[in-house]
Amino acid sequence: MEGALTARDRVGVQDLVLLEAHTSETALLDNLRKRFHENLIYTYIGTLLVSLNPYKELDTYSKKHMDTYMGVNFFELPPHIYALADNVFRTMLSEFNNHFILISGESGAGKTETSKKVLQYYAVSCPNTSLLDNVRDRLLLSNPVLEAFGNAKTLKNDNSSRFGKYMDIQFDHQVGAVGGHILSYLLEKSRVVHQNHGERNFHIFYQLVAGGDDELLRWLGLERNCQNYSYLVQGDCAKVTSINDKSNWKIVRSALSIIEFSEKDVEQLFAIIASVLHLGNVKFATDALGYAVLKNVPELHWLSTVRLNIQLLRVKRCLQVYSPFAVDHALYARDALAKAIYGRTFNWLVNKVNESLANKDSSRKTVIGLLDIYGFEVFHVNSFEQFCINYCNEKLQQLFIQLTLKSEQEEYQMEGIEWEPVPYFNNKIICDLVEEKHRGIISVLDEECLRPGEATDLTFLEKLEEKMGGHPHFVTHKLADQKTRKTMQRGDFRLLHYAGEVTYCVVGFLDKNNDLLYRNVKEVMRQSKNTIIKHCFPYTEPDSKKRPETVVTQFKGSLAGLTDVLMSKEPWYVRCIKPNDGKKAGRFDDVLVRHQVKYLGLMEHLRVRRAGFAYRRKYDIFLARYKPLCPSTWPKWKGSASEGVLCLVKHLGYKPNEYKMGRTKIFIRHPKTLFATEDAFEL
Ligand code: ATP
Ligand code: MG
Repeated sequence: MEGALTARDRVGVQDLVLLEAHTSETALLDNLRKRFHENLIYTYIGTLLVSLNPYKELDTYSKKHMDTYMGVNFFELPPHIYALADNVFRTMLSEFNNHFILISGESGAGKTETSKKVLQYYAVSCPNTSLLDNVRDRLLLSNPVLEAFGNAKTLKNDNSSRFGKYMDIQFDHQVGAVGGHILSYLLEKSRVVHQNHGERNFHIFYQLVAGGDDELLRWLGLERNCQNYSYLVQGDCAKVTSINDKSNWKIVRSALSIIEFSEKDVEQLFAIIASVLHLGNVKFATDALGYAVLKNVPELHWLSTVRLNIQLLRVKRCLQVYSPFAVDHALYARDALAKAIYGRTFNWLVNKVNESLANKDSSRKTVIGLLDIYGFEVFHVNSFEQFCINYCNEKLQQLFIQLTLKSEQEEYQMEGIEWEPVPYFNNKIICDLVEEKHRGIISVLDEECLRPGEATDLTFLEKLEEKMGGHPHFVTHKLADQKTRKTMQRGDFRLLHYAGEVTYCVVGFLDKNNDLLYRNVKEVMRQSKNTIIKHCFPYTEPDSKKRPETVVTQFKGSLAGLTDVLMSKEPWYVRCIKPNDGKKAGRFDDVLVRHQVKYLGLMEHLRVRRAGFAYRRKYDIFLARYKPLCPSTWPKWKGSASEGVLCLVKHLGYKPNEYKMGRTKIFIRHPKTLFATEDAFEL
């Protein structure tokens, strides 16, 4: 007779470190699958949390659940995002240092939902004073506001973040969360003017049209019908059943008030949103000489005199520009303006939210950072945006390697701990290929952007072929062998990313990287009486020789800044996995999950964790903390700290395989050993 299923057979292990010694990828996958089918979406690898998107509401996020996890050690309760949040919080309190939680995974894997759960946990676990209620509300409500302006429905996710977000939550040790600060990265502005089939523009446009009251719409000159706005219907799916624009509008509208946007700010903000819609409907005709002339005077009327408060004549001049234009050129100028207005307004919005989250008290705080940034992206056709996003993921993988795989192994070496190195792929070679000074793809792209009129996307590709030809992670149609060539087009280059191959189509690279706005357009915008617009288009020296930084160089700079910020903090990781491509509950697609397990580096992490030690502490600190537990070390130990620790752990009955003595630190294999020691205090 077959034995009954044990709990382990049914639901797998809570920590993948507990699987058999030489765990295969298949065993890891089996474990995740078993748990997923039992609605157990969380699993640990040591202190790293793996999270599977359940695509349904689970009953594990109530206040009662939060309370259960508060102050409880890892491993004492089932894995949960609250357990991780609580541990980070308590480590921060006891060590008085800064931390960050890196949440990664592909589009739709659940990063944003996870980061919201962490924020909710910190907001709710704050003590209950009216001052903090205020901070808590603002911290929480910054989310719907930024999501309305920065998220959109894509083919992969109905609420896809189209910007990267890093948020510091500041803590005062007496009272809890007291403030926050958000950094945003590279909003996908091109979405304002173009959406692929099945995708939408940013949520806020649809929310305004569906939810704004009649009087507001009348004032803005808008009709309650998305179909009337060219910028809203490019993807042919303005209505989505899973999204309720009307009720989301209400949430956003009241959130704006709570985070201290004045009525005037709100009015001007929506005037801008409406202006972008009007701008999208501006059309041009061709005159007898073949030049573009403006049509649609009513649209311009709304745009100019009424809502942006710029003289009509100036707006016309701005769109027709100083020299005569062909129609496609004029449309290009129109779209560039729409993107600039939206992109700059988004930055203004983030700053405004930051003002409201800022903590005025200058006493020393410690912070927990939350990084929710776009995951690795591969579409059928990949462009400049995917190039930037995937470059960002290479950088984050490099950070993970530096902070975890590499540093962990180096520490064992330094401490003289016996250790069999765990092999891992170091993606530095790809980071260099992209960003190396004077030699990388970014520098080639920027050079081409400096040759207006001469350089084209194709000359960029040729330069790449000249410089990168032969690099093991780079190939183009021309350089490829026959078999590979069949899978590429002439205008493509392919990068072998750490997470897989991506083929990029060079069309639009130069344009998007330059992101040029005609100078007179800027001047006209500056004349606006709309204070947000005025603020967004500041005065620049007309004869300034300095070229504005290109988009990718700015992005490179902000990623370098982010890396520095993160390197100075202690890392924690959440790896989000998307179980299927259909947004369906209960479906676990093996091939899809296996691919993510690979590129999220779970096996490497597991090997390092398994071979390594969960806990380490300098001898003197360890001795100071635990010496009361042993008569020979209490009250005073006369020998060296390491001898004291040895005496202490022998007295406590640590088994030889549970710990190792390094040069300056004791290393303990399992956290359980340490918990038992902590518990000994209470006996
Ligand atoms: P992107 O990179 O596109 O921004 P993402 O990783 O941030 O993707 P989310 O927006 O967090 O993905 O999740 C996508 C959707 O999956 C959510 O809108 C929600 O419907 C569902 N989801 C994710 N996590 C959970 C969860 N823990 N419980 C219930 N549903 C979830
Ligand atoms: Mg997201």
